[in-house]
Amino acid sequence: MAFEGLTSRLQNVFSKLRGKGKVSEEDVNEAMREVRLALLEADVNFKVVKDFIAKVKEKAVGKEVMDSFTPGMVIIDIVNKELTELMGGSQAKLAKSNKPPTVIMMVGLQGAGKTTTAGKLAKMLQKQNSRPLLVAGDIYRPAAIKQLQVLGEQIKVPVFSLGDQTSPVEIARQGLQHAKDNGNDYVIIDTAGRLHIDEELMEELKQIHEVVKPDEVLLVVDAMTGQDAVNVADHFNKQLELTGVVLTKLDGDTRGGAALSVKAVTGCPIKFAAIGEKIDALEPFHPDRMASRILGMGDMLSLIEKAQANIDEQKAKEMERKMRNAEFTFEDFLEQMEQVKKLGPLDQLMDMIPGMGKMKQTQDLKVDEKQMGRIEAIVRSMTTKEKQNPEIINHNRRKRIAAGSGTSLAEVNRLIKQFDEMRRMMKQLSSLMGPGGKNSKMM
Ligand code: GDP
Repeated sequence: MAFEGLTSRLQNVFSKLRGKGKVSEEDVNEAMREVRLALLEADVNFKVVKDFIAKVKEKAVGKEVMDSFTPGMVIIDIVNKELTELMGGSQAKLAKSNKPPTVIMMVGLQGAGKTTTAGKLAKMLQKQNSRPLLVAGDIYRPAAIKQLQVLGEQIKVPVFSLGDQTSPVEIARQGLQHAKDNGNDYVIIDTAGRLHIDEELMEELKQIHEVVKPDEVLLVVDAMTGQDAVNVADHFNKQLELTGVVLTKLDGDTRGGAALSVKAVTGCPIKFAAIGEKIDALEPFHPDRMASRILGMGDMLSLIEKAQANIDEQKAKEMERKMRNAEFTFEDFLEQMEQVKKLGPLDQLMDMIPGMGKMKQTQDLKVDEKQMGRIEAIVRSMTTKEKQNPEIINHNRRKRIAAGSGTSLAEVNRLIKQFDEMRRMMKQLSSLMGPGGKNSKMM
């Protein structure tokens, strides 16, 4: 999953800071040097890094921070807010025309995931009770039309095609008319890509733009290409006035530099993130939630949204309240694990649970399905009282739990310690952010 390296490096920097009662200016400088390196290593654009560090520093060396009881936490909060800003601040929503159909033009280089994303977006809109039409405008890449048709069949969304002998401009024009005639409220036009940016491509896209006057021009870029993706976005944006970017293959991109640089470099917001090949692996992009994930603080809101079918709202709210008040128990932890199991690829979901990112890094607590089983066994070997009051789990109880779960005392100790740390951090953070704060939501 994205940001693995960055998350672990940032967590190391912050755990040093958290341990300190007082933080000196030199401590802040040292921490910022490390954050800078971590960002550069994550392939974030160097100028973006420079500005980012300057902003954080400016806020972090202020008197209030130094005098605070928890300076380390205040600095994490500053970084969290700046990361959120860096990625656009708030969610950039998909446009909706008040004169339907809303026209969405998908553009991008070949192989970025344009066709796949067009299908995913159609599925997402359909789920929201819209009636999208897909238009097969990529006549150059062999099999692109067929691919879209197969996707359309799979999700039961109509696909408009005129084969590969009609010009893309004409296909787009007739596709739009078809949508109007048939009452579709969204038209998603898949356009042709090239291996590299070239004038001919841009010219064609501009012509389509002129004819269909899109409400959205979404550029699809492959996050795994890092700064190249950012350069591509910059170039397209100068020619076409993009309205948004879709980052694909975030599931494979462990560095995450593109996600952190695109908005700052191009001014164009990331609207969606694609995190897998499956048709439902597309998420609206929330800068605040992404920042929270990067800092290893999880993303309970996205998790809850994913789980909406399984979790009732009352329960979700109760869970959030417990988290904030550090009343989160091992029973709740177990319940969350049960929910998570229903939701899909473990690896991606684990990152959404606060504290789990850190556990993943611990060598012998690697979170594959098997290790999850071990953690679960440990928690299940606790008595109800222990689950509800983790603080009573003394040495003897730990030994019993290890024996009962077929794990080692060290593993039990580690799990309890990390659970403890997580609760402490949540409590500090939520008191810091207050109940109404924007960022408190992620808790
Ligand atoms: P296009 O040329 O831009 O239309 O690209 P395609 O839609 O054909 O995608 C190229 C390849 O990338 C295909 O094999 C897709 O399955 C794959 N792909 C697209 N999006 C994602 C994603 O979010 N994650 C992963 N792992 N693969 C993706």
